[in-house]
Amino acid sequence: MKPISSNAPIAALPGVSFHIHHLTKTYRMGDVDVRALQSVDLDVYDGEFMVILGPSGSGKSTLLNILGGLDTPTSGQVKFHDQDLTHAHDAALTRFRRDYVGFIFQFYNLIPSLTAKENVALVTEISRSPMPPEAALELVGLGDRLNHFPAQLSGGEQQRVAIARAIAKRPEVMLCDEPTGALDYKTGKVVLEVLEQVNRELGTTTIVITHNAGIADMADRVVTMRSGEIIRIQQNETRVSPAELEW
Ligand code: ADP
Ligand code: MG
Repeated sequence: MKPISSNAPIAALPGVSFHIHHLTKTYRMGDVDVRALQSVDLDVYDGEFMVILGPSGSGKSTLLNILGGLDTPTSGQVKFHDQDLTHAHDAALTRFRRDYVGFIFQFYNLIPSLTAKENVALVTEISRSPMPPEAALELVGLGDRLNHFPAQLSGGEQQRVAIARAIAKRPEVMLCDEPTGALDYKTGKVVLEVLEQVNRELGTTTIVITHNAGIADMADRVVTMRSGEIIRIQQNETRVSPAELEW
């Protein structure tokens, strides 16, 4: 990864995965500037489970995409440990995503012509120290669905295959954008339980974007956004298991 470009290198903060400073993202739409992020400051701690809440259009996805190296900011700084993502080139961002980040989106993006195991294997084949696809699927409770095709699985099961695919490369961080957005209540809970279990057992730093304030209690910290700004950061004393949450 390209080293930080300023003259004075900033030391990585111990225990901090992402250090975000004065982060701004402006989209130019014709003559109009859309300010998706306005001077956001945030540290994300190693191993924490963070939930990001906020209405539609408040900048949640923009923030997550920048953290995951899918997008770059207009100004400000993002560091992952001592790697500066702000000025990294495409190749460096691609390496960063491949080696460190698991993404989960609202839609599962599985390849329909491949089985669950083959969908996971696609990723493990290009990873440095992957777990076997069978083990990843076992972890999400799908050890008995290895040879099913996506069309033969429920929505919740497909999302769990997507999670298996993301965790199989043992990413340091999981970035989840509305992971239960397309799922019913019960299935959504199962998916959240899997994310919580991965965070607890593998120590994966996890950020989950949601519309659903009801799941905030499962987090270590809850970040609330509005109009491109963080308006609140709440620390939970204890984490409530998703199984016990009601919404
Ligand atoms: P959220 O995920 O909280 O719904 P987003 O981060 O997707 O919010 O969007 C924040 C703001 O930036 C919105 O006003 C949205 O319309 C705008 N925006 C997001 N992506 C783009 C883009 N690629 N081009 C132009 N505007 C965008
Ligand atoms: Mg969004």
